[in-house]
Amino acid sequence: MLHNDHLEQWDRESFFHPSTHLAEFARGNLPQRVVTGGDGCHIEDRSGARMLDAFAGLYCVNVGYGRPEIAEAIAEQAKELAYYHSYVGHGTEASITLAKMVLDRAPDHMSKVYFGLSGSDANETNIKLIWYYNNILGRPQKKKIISRWRGYHGSGLMTGSLTGLELFHKKFDLPLAQVLHTDAPYYFRREDQSQSEAQFVAQCVASLEKMIAREGADTIAAFIGEPVLGTGGIVPPPEGYWPAIQAVLDKHDILLVADEVVTGFGRLGSMFGSEHYGMKPDLITIAKGLTSAYAPLSGSIVSDKIWAVLEQGTDENGPIGHGWTYSAHPIGAAAGVANLQLIDSLNLIENAGSTGAYLNDSMTAALADHPNVGDVRGEGMLCAIEFVADKDSHTFFDAGDKIGPQIAAKLLEQDSVIARAMPQGDILGFAPPFCLTRAEADQVVAATVRAVTSVLP
Ligand code: PLP
Repeated sequence: MLHNDHLEQWDRESFFHPSTHLAEFARGNLPQRVVTGGDGCHIEDRSGARMLDAFAGLYCVNVGYGRPEIAEAIAEQAKELAYYHSYVGHGTEASITLAKMVLDRAPDHMSKVYFGLSGSDANETNIKLIWYYNNILGRPQKKKIISRWRGYHGSGLMTGSLTGLELFHKKFDLPLAQVLHTDAPYYFRREDQSQSEAQFVAQCVASLEKMIAREGADTIAAFIGEPVLGTGGIVPPPEGYWPAIQAVLDKHDILLVADEVVTGFGRLGSMFGSEHYGMKPDLITIAKGLTSAYAPLSGSIVSDKIWAVLEQGTDENGPIGHGWTYSAHPIGAAAGVANLQLIDSLNLIENAGSTGAYLNDSMTAALADHPNVGDVRGEGMLCAIEFVADKDSHTFFDAGDKIGPQIAAKLLEQDSVIARAMPQGDILGFAPPFCLTRAEADQVVAATVRAVTSVLP
């Protein structure tokens, strides 16, 4: 592409960046980066700088950058048929094949896949299906959705409400009234430090039971959760959490939505987080890893139990009033087919498990004893370091000190490694592509040690 000297200026003048301090950006006080290329675990920007992307974009480029197999599948699809809709029985070879491939990989009790474009819209679909389901079953009052503090489910009206992070509610008049938030399964941040993991799980369960008793089980439709809390801090659940929550939901006839936008298709070293933790979801949300972000595509995987009621609903009411122009877009679907094939042929899920464990072990060995490192945690190709002002008293830094963002900036500046300062708390997150090698993992760990000791000597 021809070099355009105006690009940086156009960027400040014309482009609305999501999740950005808009005023500071417009004033020129935030860095700009125009990303131009990528291969494997690396990206390049227009100044020629090359960076190791240890967050795979937004934990989505799971197969790594620059895969010709997916690029060619997209080009072929665009040449052959760039678009046709999927309403009233229409489809494309790619969308039907992808639905079959997703179901072949999903838990046995799942029945159909609805395709959308983003994790947010897939969760909006899920909530609509849940409300429809309970209306068809004649229980119109059973509509509330329980989510968790620190959960992340998107930033639409409903999904921003489900998200349990303050930034996504403040000044947007969210959360909506139908949404309730229960405790985050965040053992490291438990109020009572003397609690064992089992006692903490019992407390999460008791607090959920209390909420259900207060609201009435007949008003609660579903519980939504990520197998591992992602944007809320990369927090794997304490031992026994999911089976204990599942038992409460089963007892009260409350549906479970497993939001597998981050964990689906291998990030934990298993195909789905649901199987990894023994969850039995009624709906599974998928997005990022479905196409490794080579094209926008998401999905709601619907269980047999819900599907039967949806069929009954259309017998009684006519066609389902839900769909987007771009549902099951053939270009996204072609990318999805090529992506899932590549994951299989390169054994990438196995590598996510084994190299992910190596990364987590090496990070723990290198940093767990640092006086300001409170916790090093992770699962599969997810890893996080949480910083504390004082380890013994478990005191956190002042949010204004921006310790997490400072360390992420140092990591990039010193060693060209990208990690993510998670939005709430001083937490540095890693979620590399599944093709990360051990040598690259070593590089990430060594660079992180340098960055941490530069900011917190
Ligand atoms: N659910 C989870 C667990 C996510 O991590 C995300 C995005 O990070 C979403 C939903 C929303 O997906 P999107 O940003 O594609 O709307």
